[in-house]
Amino acid sequence: MSKLSRNFIAGEWSQGASTIPNINPSDTNDLIGDFAQADISQLEDAFSCAQIAQKEWAETGLEKRQAVLMSIGEEMMARSTELGELLSREEGKPKAEGKGEVYRAGQFFTYYAAEVLRQSGDTADSVRPGIEVDVRREAMGTVAIISPWNFPTATASWKIAPALAFGNAVIWKPANLTPASAVALTEIISKQDIPKGLFSLVMGPGSSIGQALAESPKIHAISFTGSYDVGRTIAAAAAKNLTKFQLELGSKNPLVVMDDADIDIAVAAATGGAFGSTGQKCTASSRLIVHQDIHDEFVDRMKLSTSALKVGHALEEGTQIGPAVSEKQLKSNLDYMSLARKEGCEVVCGGDALDLGTPGYYMQPALLTGGDNSMRINREELFAPIACVIKVADYEEALMLANDTEFGLVSGIITQSLSRATHFRRNSETGCVMVNLPTAGTDYHVPFGGRKNSSFGPREQGKYAKELYTQVKTSYISSGTP
Ligand code: NAP
Ligand code: MG
Repeated sequence: MSKLSRNFIAGEWSQGASTIPNINPSDTNDLIGDFAQADISQLEDAFSCAQIAQKEWAETGLEKRQAVLMSIGEEMMARSTELGELLSREEGKPKAEGKGEVYRAGQFFTYYAAEVLRQSGDTADSVRPGIEVDVRREAMGTVAIISPWNFPTATASWKIAPALAFGNAVIWKPANLTPASAVALTEIISKQDIPKGLFSLVMGPGSSIGQALAESPKIHAISFTGSYDVGRTIAAAAAKNLTKFQLELGSKNPLVVMDDADIDIAVAAATGGAFGSTGQKCTASSRLIVHQDIHDEFVDRMKLSTSALKVGHALEEGTQIGPAVSEKQLKSNLDYMSLARKEGCEVVCGGDALDLGTPGYYMQPALLTGGDNSMRINREELFAPIACVIKVADYEEALMLANDTEFGLVSGIITQSLSRATHFRRNSETGCVMVNLPTAGTDYHVPFGGRKNSSFGPREQGKYAKELYTQVKTSYISSGTP
């Protein structure tokens, strides 16, 4: 087995108990490789090595730590075309999106490289004379990172970069559908001059390796991005050991289109937000809540823009929408189409599986109308290129329906009215709000996260990330005089 399909545990490239095949969803005849699956016993090696390495790393000078992160980020950006193609080949997003993701992932490392040097703390006088107080942040210790397949490199990077920047050791369990991207990033990290075992990659099944990682008392913090159900499992495991944790989960993001919307902006935001990355985004807008006065024009224009999207092989020039990530995901998408019809939605366009030049999990993006917010199709996260238009009478109804969901990651409004935009921004029950923009597409230097069942724990990204990756220590120092 080549190094490029092995785990990286305690500073060594190691084989596992078994392997899994990594198949290209654009062409199931294309086997990317067989990838190692770690044995639970290998986790113990990762834990003990991480514990020693972390102490050394936390004491490594700031400039050295900054240089390591910068070097990882710069290599990712320089190799974003090559690594982006690999990502697209195994995940199925179009080439440009794969490249963009790897480049963005590199930016997380360069951003947190700078953050290493941005040291701050508090000092104060004690209420007792002659005593000073020093408040500083220290690393958590060993951090477990469990990441999803849909943004395999970016999601992992926005966790790994701050974890290392703030002085932690990392044990990373990536999604089993995208192991090649995980190995590629690990290879770049492994070339750095860092303590042996500071960073380990443990590919393996979520239900065994992921679960064992979350349950281990040797882990001091857990950062998880993935589904709601697995998130609750992680929360229960973490609670047993009182391990600090953070969850970024699913959503059911609404995009509100008001009667005064610029129709071009509305159609572009809805088309990109609903169908980009085959709808496999936690930030995708799957509920299009549209004012009745603009409804018919919006649907006509959306029908044109949705039908015009070119579905194809992720690596082919001109492809706008790649395949679903797996056979299981495609089946789930098609099942949701049947459910939508049963629930009484009208299919304006799309929704069928496609036979293209290569055997892959292709489907035509689907636009539905006639939906109401109580339908399952409008309550469950689909993770599919399916969007449903919900017609409303006025702004008040639009806001009410936008908030009528158990999720709360992102919401959006398209309007030219400053007062409506302001009211929406202040009353939307989500962690992120977009005004005249698609719900998908966020920056790296500001916090990202949701409310309700979409998130739990501290925010990710920007300087807010330190809430998870550090802990506060308050010291009292007496001058020694009586
Ligand atoms: P998933 O099935 O929950 O898997 C996420 C990760 O957890 C994978 O690495 C998986 O490993 C692992 N896992 C599975 N069972 C586990 C267990 N019992 N204990 C510990 N780890 C376990 O999610 P997914 O299908 O990869 O990703 C799609 C979901 O992620 C969607 O719900 C989406 O909304 C969400 N997401 C959220 C954000 C956000 O920032 N809010 C961003 C991206 C995606 P295996 O691959 O081996 O199963
Ligand atoms: Mg694959």
